[in-house]
Amino acid sequence: MTHPTDPVALTAELIRCPSVTPSEGGALRLLETRLAAAGFECHRIDRAGVSNLFARWGAKGHERTFGFNGHTDVVPAGDTAAWTSDPFGAEIRDGQIWGRGATDMKSGVAAFVAAAIDHVTETPPDGAIVIAITGDEEGDASDGTVAILDWMATEGEHMAACLVGEPTCRATMGDMIKIGRRGSMTAHFTAHGVQGHTAYPQRAQNPIPAMARLVERLSAYPLDEGTRHFDPSTLAVTTFDTGNPANNVIPGSCRASVNIRFNEVHTSDSLTEWLNEEIARVADETGVRFEMEVQVSGESFLTPPGALSDLVAEAVKAETGIAPELSTSGGTSDARFVKDFCPVVEFGLVGKTMHQVDERVEMAQIETLKRVYARILTAYFG
Ligand SMILES: [Zn+2]
Repeated sequence: MTHPTDPVALTAELIRCPSVTPSEGGALRLLETRLAAAGFECHRIDRAGVSNLFARWGAKGHERTFGFNGHTDVVPAGDTAAWTSDPFGAEIRDGQIWGRGATDMKSGVAAFVAAAIDHVTETPPDGAIVIAITGDEEGDASDGTVAILDWMATEGEHMAACLVGEPTCRATMGDMIKIGRRGSMTAHFTAHGVQGHTAYPQRAQNPIPAMARLVERLSAYPLDEGTRHFDPSTLAVTTFDTGNPANNVIPGSCRASVNIRFNEVHTSDSLTEWLNEEIARVADETGVRFEMEVQVSGESFLTPPGALSDLVAEAVKAETGIAPELSTSGGTSDARFVKDFCPVVEFGLVGKTMHQVDERVEMAQIETLKRVYARILTAYFG
């Protein structure tokens, strides 16, 4: 019998690759070498300066293809002097590995790569395993998982189900699976009035009260009451600026932005329509003209509880003793792209120190995570 792949050692090796977005840092090369040695067919799908890796074991297009998705890029270490150990040193101390990417998400990648390699080596399945790793999740994500999925569609590659290995647990290993995510969009408003002297306000048209009215209405508006699987949608005013340094001048324009996290009751289109209506109302009432620019980070999505979430939940329960909550909380992830390709769920370890100084992970959690992924593969191909 061959030696099982050690997910802790692989995590440490990945942390030592300084893969700060969009730098590949040697992380994908390392994985490519390991996966190729285990019989995976590997393709580098690099686009617009971003490095991505696609690896498949088994026949292309096999109807039973299980996919894993993750990223090896990390956010910058920030103030390295504030770290108690080298952020790219992968020091082992107190039963934990320390370093940038320890939780988000080199440990997750190491765990599924180790589980997949062992699975195809020890119990070659009648099916295929796809591993898709991007080097651009923490950046703007436009040439990461999207590039891999575009390439897969062109090449006739298949995935029947996919698991994203981002950290999903809240407090305890096994307590949460994500079956969907809220959408996210930002709207930037500019209100145009007429600049003038504060002593003669009748000759000016102050855009600030109009903008204040707009953001007050938007933030007071109940978007919905939540749904069976989602919390209520939220709107937060994120900035409100005139940049006016003079106290005797009524400014000619003013800007504000809002960020909306929305559930499946809405789409970015329906929300844009609503924002336009509210703007038109305030413009009517005040005579101030508005411009709006919308940026959509992702639509909301839900993989309804069913075969895939059951499979993952049972594996989590068997390894951790905890029945995971099926949640749609948190920010966006690359699952928002995968969902257009096949059903997708997310499960990974506890994400407590993500993006922080002294990011670290308990080694025992990585071992457990690998066992959960291994159990998912066994059940899927069983
Ligand atoms: Zn991540």
